[in-house]
Amino acid sequence: MGKKLTNVWKVLIGENMLTDRQKYGAMIYTVAGVHVLLTCIFISMKITPLYLFNICRVLSYLVAAYLVRQERYLPVYFITYFEIILHSLVATICIGWKFGFGQYIIGIIPVGFYLCYTMKNMTHRLSIATSSALLAMLAFISCKIMSCYTSPVYVVEGRKIEIMFYIFNSFCTFAFLITLSLLFVYEVRITNARLRHQNAILDQLANTDPLTGLYNRRSMNVFLEQALQSQTNFHVIMCDIDDFKKVNDTYGHDFGDIVLQEIAEITMKTVDDAGYVCRWGGEEILILISSRVSESVLHIAESIRTKVEYHIFELNQKLVHCTLTLGVAAYHKNETLEETIARADDNLYRGKRSGKNKVVM
Ligand code: GH3
Ligand code: MG
Ligand code: MG
Repeated sequence: MGKKLTNVWKVLIGENMLTDRQKYGAMIYTVAGVHVLLTCIFISMKITPLYLFNICRVLSYLVAAYLVRQERYLPVYFITYFEIILHSLVATICIGWKFGFGQYIIGIIPVGFYLCYTMKNMTHRLSIATSSALLAMLAFISCKIMSCYTSPVYVVEGRKIEIMFYIFNSFCTFAFLITLSLLFVYEVRITNARLRHQNAILDQLANTDPLTGLYNRRSMNVFLEQALQSQTNFHVIMCDIDDFKKVNDTYGHDFGDIVLQEIAEITMKTVDDAGYVCRWGGEEILILISSRVSESVLHIAESIRTKVEYHIFELNQKLVHCTLTLGVAAYHKNETLEETIARADDNLYRGKRSGKNKVVM
């Protein structure tokens, strides 16, 4: 049921929400339609003050519709607010309390709060909504008290008419309240979803390297710290692209970037769930492997090395090869993270010195 209702709302107002202009426009035209109907009913009942008042109301909603077009929603709210209170008052004086016109006063209260939720540049919004709500309560009680001490000016014959008016007015008020509440809930949901999405983007920007999509050094430090605290042995692998300066100098920096991206992707896919991969520096990649088994870590390192060695980087139909040297180090109890990383670095440079394209542990 809930899901179906959400889908209905999605169809009705779409993922992008209705604009304020469309929402307030729809409200104004619906209320104006109700007034046209009431005008006809009061004309047929020959209750002159009420039909004249309703004609004025329809005209006031034409002004409101014009203001909505100009996106001046606060005057629109006040026109509606005072018009509804005044109408309840006039209706109670003319035909009495039992016809249920007082209910519209209750219906106007959440509009003020909804407005203060949606209006971006409005000042004192909460105090405006709260004081209008309190004033509405006062008007509602006053109408009721007044009806107890004065007799209606017009006597409407027949209990049926009274009940039908009461039902009609209750229906309009409740339908309006339910619609507004659903709209509010849905908008809160969409706003929350947008916030979650934006947070996810910010999170990604803060934790990953924009060129390669790998974790950045900041988030790797968090993973390393966690690994240290978990008291389990782990391994780090320091990777460095061989003769990368030459690649940049020969094929250009942009192509160097592509090489870096593709090597990062190969590394990420190979490590998969076994650990974390980060861009440690310019063209250095640091891998944290949670495993304590050196053989399996060496297997991963070797796999990365061979995949890069046999990978073909394409530039304007030229086929380019690159290689990677990797230094592996196991974490030793009681040593600092810097010491483990430094040992991986030493191994990397041993690999570089002994001919590159190697895994050294
Ligand atoms: P070695 O085999 O000894 O590692 O030689 P190398 O030429 O790769 O030397 P080194 O690792 O010191 O080179 C780093 C080069 O990486 C220098 C810099 O121009 C390049 N580099 C660093 N970051 C980037 C990047 O984001 N994009 C590109 N295209 N090049 C980068
Ligand atoms: Mg380097
Ligand atoms: Mg290098």
